[in-house]
Amino acid sequence: MARKFFVGGNWKCNGTTEEVKKIVTTLNEAEVPSEDVVEVVVSPPFVFLPFVKSLLRSDFHVAAQNCWVRKGGAFTGEVSAEMLVNLGIPWVILGHSERRALLNESNEFVGDKVAYALSQGLKVIACIGETLEQRESGSTMAVVAAQTKAIAEKVTNWDNVVLAYEPVWAIGTGKVATPAQAQEVHCELRNWVHDNVGAEVAAKVRIIYGGSVNGANCKELAGQPDVDGFLVGGASLKPEFVDIIKSAT
Ligand code: PGA
Repeated sequence: MARKFFVGGNWKCNGTTEEVKKIVTTLNEAEVPSEDVVEVVVSPPFVFLPFVKSLLRSDFHVAAQNCWVRKGGAFTGEVSAEMLVNLGIPWVILGHSERRALLNESNEFVGDKVAYALSQGLKVIACIGETLEQRESGSTMAVVAAQTKAIAEKVTNWDNVVLAYEPVWAIGTGKVATPAQAQEVHCELRNWVHDNVGAEVAAKVRIIYGGSVNGANCKELAGQPDVDGFLVGGASLKPEFVDIIKSAT
């Protein structure tokens, strides 16, 4: 079953109004494959979301980088899924390893967030991935399976979920996973989804790779059968993001 290539740009906690305008101008002027071939989603910090949405070409979409786990209310500093929906923001990134590590977001908390965001009509890029220590001790698949299980336990409809496999040791380090390393985990993860969720979801769900993806390494990674796209950090702030989008074909 054909899975549409997906390229996400995670801008993290970066940018000024001027820088944001510059990135959006580059994207708006880029010649890239059509929306039928590649789905492009950029994720600016919350404060720039409406601004980016208003400037960005209509075939590219925006994502928030997080949202609150339940309905909004007395939760100072948080942004609710309802607010994102109200602003017409279609996507949200949840469970990024930086939040898991720095803000102690547990597998269960991420699972709850994914389920709540989906229930409100958001589409979710759910991030999973092992640390270097976990990889070296041979527990990569156990870690990734436990993270996915916490999501699978709370989600019944996977149509609006993209799974982002992002090995922590590859994020922002310049140490990209080899195409074979990425393919191995993506394939095992798809098998896990097959056995624990169902054959149809396993065939349909997009599993994208993140961690030091750039204009030079994207093509070979994109050629792997179970790599359905990318979640890009550092390189999504640069013109080479356009080359990464083009690796869809
Ligand atoms: P990176 O980040 O591309 O800068 O490694 C990826 C991510 O954290 O999503």
